[in-house]
Amino acid sequence: MKLTVLGCWAPYPPAGGACPGYLVQSEGKNILLDCGNGVLSNLQKYLDFRALDSVVITHLHPDHYVDIFCLRHAIGIERRTRSDVNPVTLYLPDEPADAFAKIAGYTEAFTVVPIGSLPGNEINGIVIREVWIGQNKIKFVKTDHPLPTYAVLVEGKGKLFYSADTKWASYLPEFARGADAVLCEASFTEKNKDLTGIGHLSCRQAGELAKSAGAGQLIATHFWPGYNHKTIKAEAELGFGKEVILAHEGLQVTIK
Ligand SMILES: [Zn+2]
Ligand SMILES: [Zn+2]
Repeated sequence: MKLTVLGCWAPYPPAGGACPGYLVQSEGKNILLDCGNGVLSNLQKYLDFRALDSVVITHLHPDHYVDIFCLRHAIGIERRTRSDVNPVTLYLPDEPADAFAKIAGYTEAFTVVPIGSLPGNEINGIVIREVWIGQNKIKFVKTDHPLPTYAVLVEGKGKLFYSADTKWASYLPEFARGADAVLCEASFTEKNKDLTGIGHLSCRQAGELAKSAGAGQLIATHFWPGYNHKTIKAEAELGFGKEVILAHEGLQVTIK
């Protein structure tokens, strides 16, 4: 399994940067996790967009999905002139209803699947939903964030957990248990950790989540452009107890 970081900034990118987007290539499938502004441009450095199999939008905060409008045009226009370009399967939450309805209307470009419609199992009051993308099992669990948001587990030859956006939730390390890699938001430094209450993790909590999950490696992401990366890394490593990789556009990690 290969992870390529296409964007790692939130809620806005610095000059030349992009908001969250991660290409996961596993078992012959090309899966895009989140599609923030700048992601479609960066994607094309690594993959022809026509080769995307699936896109997962974890939640409908604009910095996680607005390039879906560009992808809609890219695929939609191709499909008017070529018979060999298929709609991309798009998994996303169906709330807020107005944002969902707009995207769901782009039937020329997307086969839309609300994540909440996937079959699920309830374990200790937590619903885990599942879908197969080729030989990859994809699991979803709702996080604790102001909008309906799903953390994602991709199980192919390797196992990748992506936190999406969330504040600390005790069930997340269990959901991520045994992941070879944890890709986790690290939104606030200790100085501003009181802000985590609005629905995010601190850098240290990102480390603690990966440690509790027994993860092989932690890739920290979702950075406020104003923060110092040395501080982010040091605080995440304090939580993880091991070296932490900081996401940046173009970072590629083999997961196994
Ligand atoms: Zn968010
Ligand atoms: Zn975010």
